[in-house]
Amino acid sequence: MAEGDKQVPNIQIPVEMLSSDGRFGCGPSKIRKEAIEALGEVSSTYMGTSHRQPTVKNMVGRVRDGLSQMFGAPEGYEVVLGNGGTTAFWEIATCCLVESHSQHLVFGEFSSKFASSVSAAPFLSDPQVIKSDPGTRPVAVSDPSVDLYGLTHNETSTGVAAPIARPEGSSGLVAVDATSAAGGIRVDLGETDIYYFAPQKCLASDGGLWLAFMSPAAIERGVRLSKSASDGRWVPEFLNLSVAIDNSRLNQTYNTPALATIMLLANQVEWINSNGGLEWSASRCDTSAANLYGWADKSEFATPFVADPADRSPVVGTIDFDDSVDAAVVAKVLRANGIVDTEPYRKLGRNQLRIAMFPAVEPSDVEALTGCIDYVVSKL
Ligand SMILES: *Cc1c(COP(=O)(O)O)cnc(C)c1O
Repeated sequence: MAEGDKQVPNIQIPVEMLSSDGRFGCGPSKIRKEAIEALGEVSSTYMGTSHRQPTVKNMVGRVRDGLSQMFGAPEGYEVVLGNGGTTAFWEIATCCLVESHSQHLVFGEFSSKFASSVSAAPFLSDPQVIKSDPGTRPVAVSDPSVDLYGLTHNETSTGVAAPIARPEGSSGLVAVDATSAAGGIRVDLGETDIYYFAPQKCLASDGGLWLAFMSPAAIERGVRLSKSASDGRWVPEFLNLSVAIDNSRLNQTYNTPALATIMLLANQVEWINSNGGLEWSASRCDTSAANLYGWADKSEFATPFVADPADRSPVVGTIDFDDSVDAAVVAKVLRANGIVDTEPYRKLGRNQLRIAMFPAVEPSDVEALTGCIDYVVSKL
């Protein structure tokens, strides 16, 4: 019998135990009901209108200003955006931000991908890759030959968060994949040159867009490399960072964006800012994480996968189950009860659940979820 055909035991979780919202997936992730309702309110005035006119450009402006406020962006840092999500940005960074030699910290599926893009580029030398086992994190090593360090703030496949700091004594640009961290984990942007992300995780919108805070040094590098036809590097227009920077300054994207994604993103950014900003949302994620890991620490059958408490992500929790409990069956029972996307990252191949605790998720819902897991396990 194929894995997907496993019988789901018929276990009904009492309604009063259920979380108020059943979405615990790591992306696309829970979007607040209020944001969807706000989208409904502009269904005929904003949706379906030109992205070259003020109605949409002002919305892009709200996103850029709101993000700068949320992150306390240092002087000269700009919010650049374009279509294609983080995966497109890896290719843009490969074409327009790595001068010749990069270093990458690899500790899971997502952090390996930028390194793979660079490895495949014929005009760059082989990147340095510093790797550690899933559930741990490597540390960058300052090297004068490295012109860009590729870090990941939160490795979504394993639930490991890494503190972000410039490698001591380094002069290279620091590029941070913050796709699942941005908006839920504190960061000092001054320690980064490129802090890039997509809006379908902590920022509770939909996929398909990439955004990046870029320092003046990163903008200089990006513009220079994307215009350097003379040194033989051809950059496809869609991946040309100068084009993206020019458009972003006009609150536009090079080609047509998904308007709903931009509106939902603006709504989430303003929701976080109106409640107290990044410190507020990060504290909210900390509370959720304390609920999840606190439960797992006490549980008879569950243990946090990430051994070092300092490395445990406050936004993506990975919880191992001992052999007596089949996590896949638990996830299926939860799903049948309306609690979805608690399955682990497929390629990690562990007997575990992975729980998103992004800012939109109520900390009390994380607590309710742990109660539901205990209930299901007691009935298996
Ligand atoms: C989800 C995720 C990605 C992929 O984002 P896309 O927008 O789907 O390309 C990349 N990096 C991290 C850390 C992620 O969590």
